[in-house]
Amino acid sequence: MKLGSRLSGIRSKTSEIQDAFGASASAPLWGFFLLIGIYLVGYFMVRFVSTSDGFLLIGGARIAYRSLTGVTSSLCNLCILLLVVFYRKWGLIVSLAMMVLSVPMMVVELFRGNYSVIPGFFTNILTLTAALLIYIFMQRAGKYQQKLQEQAVTERTTGLPNRFAVTELMNTLIQKNEPFALAVINLNHFKSINNALGQQSANDALCQIGSRWLRIAENGSSGTRDFVACHGGNEFLILLRDWTSDEQLQKSLECYAAALKEKIIVDDVDFVLSAAIGCAVFPGDAGNPEDLADKAYSAMIRAKQTDHNGCILRFSPEMFRMDRFMETERKIRSALDNNRVFFVLQPQYDMSHQLRGFEALARFRDADGTLVDPENYVPVAEKAGLVDRIDHTVLFLATEFFGKAVRETGSDAILCVNASVRHLMRSSFIDEVKTALSRSGLSPSQLEIEITESVMIDSVEEALNCISRLTEMGVHVAIDDFGTGYSSLSYLNTFPVDILKVDQSFIRNLDSGEDARQFVAAIIAIGHVMHFRILAEGIENQQQLDVLREIGCDYIQGFLWGRPMCPEEAAKLLAS
Ligand code: C2E
Ligand code: MG
Ligand code: MG
Repeated sequence: MKLGSRLSGIRSKTSEIQDAFGASASAPLWGFFLLIGIYLVGYFMVRFVSTSDGFLLIGGARIAYRSLTGVTSSLCNLCILLLVVFYRKWGLIVSLAMMVLSVPMMVVELFRGNYSVIPGFFTNILTLTAALLIYIFMQRAGKYQQKLQEQAVTERTTGLPNRFAVTELMNTLIQKNEPFALAVINLNHFKSINNALGQQSANDALCQIGSRWLRIAENGSSGTRDFVACHGGNEFLILLRDWTSDEQLQKSLECYAAALKEKIIVDDVDFVLSAAIGCAVFPGDAGNPEDLADKAYSAMIRAKQTDHNGCILRFSPEMFRMDRFMETERKIRSALDNNRVFFVLQPQYDMSHQLRGFEALARFRDADGTLVDPENYVPVAEKAGLVDRIDHTVLFLATEFFGKAVRETGSDAILCVNASVRHLMRSSFIDEVKTALSRSGLSPSQLEIEITESVMIDSVEEALNCISRLTEMGVHVAIDDFGTGYSSLSYLNTFPVDILKVDQSFIRNLDSGEDARQFVAAIIAIGHVMHFRILAEGIENQQQLDVLREIGCDYIQGFLWGRPMCPEEAAKLLAS
């Protein structure tokens, strides 16, 4: 069978497309009869006024009935045109009938010697011509409109409804709060079919698959009420309704998968395909078409990864998290490869508002320029093994900038750089720090490495070794997010660190609860006993600052005195 004829066979077979768009809007029937009524009244008024010798008195003025002929006949002509515009074929038929019926009456009038009907006769012919022209033009426009509408909801290759049609149908069902499942079906290894047989034959294969699935949907053999669509490429969408249990939904989808087991023959070559199927359900999994499609797509991707020979999976939140994870990982890689990672600097102060230094915080922009928050990407970068590349980038960029700024301003402020667990434990870390210092010309005493507390817990020995080497070089070391891990005071005592950074989660409640105040006071006291200086993170208001002053905190970092800023702004602060 030729591709074209098969396409037309599939195209628009499903009446569900109308579901998606609703019944086509048409003018109401009463309007039809109203226009005919007005025409008839107008027509008989024309007859009446054209033969009457009477007068109409309006505000003392005498107006001859005959002079109203033009008004009433214009009204009739308007009705004819409106009938054609609003009721197309039937409007035209009725208009023609009414005008034709008026001809014998005119002829009778002429025989009676009433020649005043002659201009009316010509007006009628002109109106009829205009009505005919309007009708022909509207028919043509209607055809184009229909074609455009069909194209808008049709996928070109298979002739099946497209994604837009499915989305419209989903919107309609969501409005009615009717449950449905959306399945995304991706044909496995279709690329090799494309490469081996060529695009034309591959398209033919897609059409064969589309028509098989359409048959299943139309004869109801899946056991559910289904709407088959093609998303383009080797991806199809099926919207399923009226299932009673998860098993039935699964069986219905298996029915579509089973249809692929039958051989596909294209250009005398036969082959069998399989598909990865992912599905998500309204309202259980998502409440709008976009989320539902995203989730069904996630399930499909997972199905593809699970079994390359065909697998059906229902969406679960775990899949989405993994997808988000992979997406973020991809963004981080692309930012690192394309030098889109940069840093901002947040100032740290002593309690008398003297600048102590800055913490360098990594930032990166997405390919479209959107700023991504470290809270979103740091955990992913850590898990994906990319955080050391981020650390490395920030270490080199920030020291280079800070070295120059310090030379220009003569400031003795400190630059604090975060180091992840992975990065710190790498044998090359110390060399990296040395290189960064020598390249930037920054003095080791003006660099501080912040290590998250959890690093210590995992490998005390290694951490101690690394920290000792840093301090031997003259670099400061700070323990970041202190209080959030499981610090053992016994080993903390042995670390040659300079600063404990109290995590902002303790500071947040400082102004409201006595417990929080006592806790932070205890940390500060113990820290001081161990000869650490204490820096509190996340100070947002004056009360928190007042409490910290009272309980003997040494330094603060927070929005109250300074948000993370661009290097240029930080340079101005250094200079001042
Ligand atoms: P952190 O090292 O504890 O950094 C302090 C975080 O607290 C920063 O968030 C900072 O913007 C935020 N902060 C400071 N003051 C306030 C405040 O008053 N209120 C609030 N709500 N937040 C405040 P940011 O920049 O989002 O960084 C989050 C975490 O990401 C950092 O926590 C750090 O652990 C990590 N990170 C950032 N840059 C790097 C990096 O270059 N390497 C590594 N390994 N981790 C980084
Ligand atoms: Mg930090
Ligand atoms: Mg912190």
